[in-house]
Amino acid sequence: MAFPARAAAALLILRLSLCLSGEAACPAAGRGPARVERRLASMGTVLAVSVAGPDRAAALAASEEAVREIGRVEERLTTWRRGGPLDRVNRARPGEPIVLDPEISELLAAIFAWSERTEDAFDPTVAPLVRAWDLRGRGRVPDAEALARARAATGRSKFRLDAASGEARRLAADAGIDEGAWGKGYALDRAVEALRRAGVRDATVDLGGQVSALGRAAVAVADPRTRDQAAGSLILTDASVSTSGNSERGRVVEGRAIGHLLDPRTGYPASDFGSATVVAPSGLTADILSTAFFVLGPEKGLALSESLRRRGFENQALFLVVANGELKVLASPGLEFHREGK
Ligand code: AMP
Ligand code: MG
Repeated sequence: MAFPARAAAALLILRLSLCLSGEAACPAAGRGPARVERRLASMGTVLAVSVAGPDRAAALAASEEAVREIGRVEERLTTWRRGGPLDRVNRARPGEPIVLDPEISELLAAIFAWSERTEDAFDPTVAPLVRAWDLRGRGRVPDAEALARARAATGRSKFRLDAASGEARRLAADAGIDEGAWGKGYALDRAVEALRRAGVRDATVDLGGQVSALGRAAVAVADPRTRDQAAGSLILTDASVSTSGNSERGRVVEGRAIGHLLDPRTGYPASDFGSATVVAPSGLTADILSTAFFVLGPEKGLALSESLRRRGFENQALFLVVANGELKVLASPGLEFHREGK
């Protein structure tokens, strides 16, 4: 698997329009408006694509473009296999320049800028810490020395990116880039772009629970206490929604739960309060900010969300906080979250 699995089943898409021409005509019709639904494994999780088109063949062809684009992004970003551009950066000798093509060098510049904007709560250079806690394996609690070494190898200053030449250098032998908190968001953006190019105006792409919508869709948000149940739903219009929370991707070591979301500032797993959900115009932004806001927690997360909005970075945050078994909802102004059964 190229990416760790996420709780895909936890989120279900409640599409507002099941079929443009009425349900009965949908599945079999060769001509006339149709919706195509596909589910397959991609990026180490479940990819579900739902595309409406003028006819079945057009919707199917467009969905194929989206699936292909996500496969292409996975090939380019994965650090679970050898040979991709990020993997080459992660294996370079300290100071050795690796020449990246414009797509990857611009993407790295963009995510490093987000790391700065979130004051490193989101930190794509978290790979040494992910290794120290063995989050891609069975999990482990590192001793103080191993943790100190990992912390010393983490941080943007361990990389030098040169936008003009496209060169990337890692400056410390243990430094590494981890794509886990932003790769799927970027893949969603590219899939949506592929659908737009194909003329699609009504579609959803769900990659392991993060959903991007072309047009309007209602998306369920999982209850952090029981992740296979929805706590409520949000309406998306030409936007993406991402949730970060401790899931089955966390590990249990000697009876102690270790979350997969790390606070790069301490080197420890971020404290678990429930979940952070972000709605943003792009999948990349939603993915990055949901990770950052989980690490920051509800109070600081909501404050950063607002300050980013003031600086022109559109986003809305939803925090589901578990306190004494009850769910408390904290949300950005204007975010409409419909509680289940309320
Ligand atoms: P997400 O589920 O999108 O919040 O991403 C979580 C994944 O990103 C983890 O499994 C790690 O691979 C990586 N990660 C953990 N903590 C951070 C962090 N603070 N910043 C960036 N990536 C992280
Ligand atoms: Mg993320």
